[in-house]
Amino acid sequence: MLTSADVKKAAREFGADLCGIASMDRFEGAPKQQDPRYIFPDAKACIVLAFRIPRGYFRGIEEGTYFGAYASMGYGSLNQVYMPIVLRDLCCFIEDYGFEGAPVPNIYSGSSVSFVTQKHTPERSRAVRPDLPNPDILVDMRIAAFAAGLGEIGYSKMLLTPEFGPAQRIVALLTDAPLEPDPLFSGKICDRCLRCATECSGKAICATQTESITVAGRKIEWGKLDVIKCSVAYRGGDPQYNPFLQPTVKEEDYKDQYSGGQALDKAITYGHDYGHKPALEGARGCIRACLAHLEETGKLTKKFENRFRRGKPWRLASYDAGPERQAPAPGVAALTNVE
Ligand code: SF4
Repeated sequence: MLTSADVKKAAREFGADLCGIASMDRFEGAPKQQDPRYIFPDAKACIVLAFRIPRGYFRGIEEGTYFGAYASMGYGSLNQVYMPIVLRDLCCFIEDYGFEGAPVPNIYSGSSVSFVTQKHTPERSRAVRPDLPNPDILVDMRIAAFAAGLGEIGYSKMLLTPEFGPAQRIVALLTDAPLEPDPLFSGKICDRCLRCATECSGKAICATQTESITVAGRKIEWGKLDVIKCSVAYRGGDPQYNPFLQPTVKEEDYKDQYSGGQALDKAITYGHDYGHKPALEGARGCIRACLAHLEETGKLTKKFENRFRRGKPWRLASYDAGPERQAPAPGVAALTNVE
């Protein structure tokens, strides 16, 4: 008989850092286009795996000198390579017990829910039967992780775990194996310090307005997120925080487009990895500021010998004078601690 303990042990051996299990009734009330029960109607459990983003992946961005580790290894290859390999191993492990393992990777190429509006976009695909949602269903990984007891949703709308705070990525696996679910997380991690909002380069997280939903009978609330601002910031759309952004581009040419559109693409001298536009902002507010805060307040069980943040975060000095863009002078140290 396959047990939850067997699945968790296998998941960790295959390479996941955390594993939690949700019963399918915890998705009751999910929007039809985001309800995983439509992917596998016979599923009895949703297994959620979290993979830490090692703190050192942020070191180069934190210092302002090396952006490649987070952009490729902390984002693209984790989503596109490493996590799917572990998911496959776990699917095979479960199927060797005679149950089906249906993976839900962290890949949204065919999603029928717009990342921009968070609304259903029926023009992208057609439902194969009138009673079904349009493919592809968009499973909200953070909500699935909450439902599986891995942690809480912080003010930033990031999953916060007691082990790694906001620094992990998530995948899910649906199975008809009757696995015992984990209890919902009962601790308290987010203290509403709002550093995620104030240090986000895109000001994408509203510090005054919140949104909320109820999952498994528990109310979850977060700061209202502007997805366009978030997507532009993620690319490094703020010239103060992206040394690869060419000073010839004007912010008004890209600031209202998802991910900055082609204008921002052309203005950034950095290649794409694994189909991902490079995350050059390095999650300045929602991960780095939050991680620094949670470490400083002793909230995380994962301890380090030295602090993550050793001084004030950098900002490009060449933009101190005002919003007018100027090219950094050749040979002049362009990074400074000003905040
Ligand atoms: S930075 Fe502060 S308010 Fe934001 S999610 Fe982290 S703990 Fe919560």
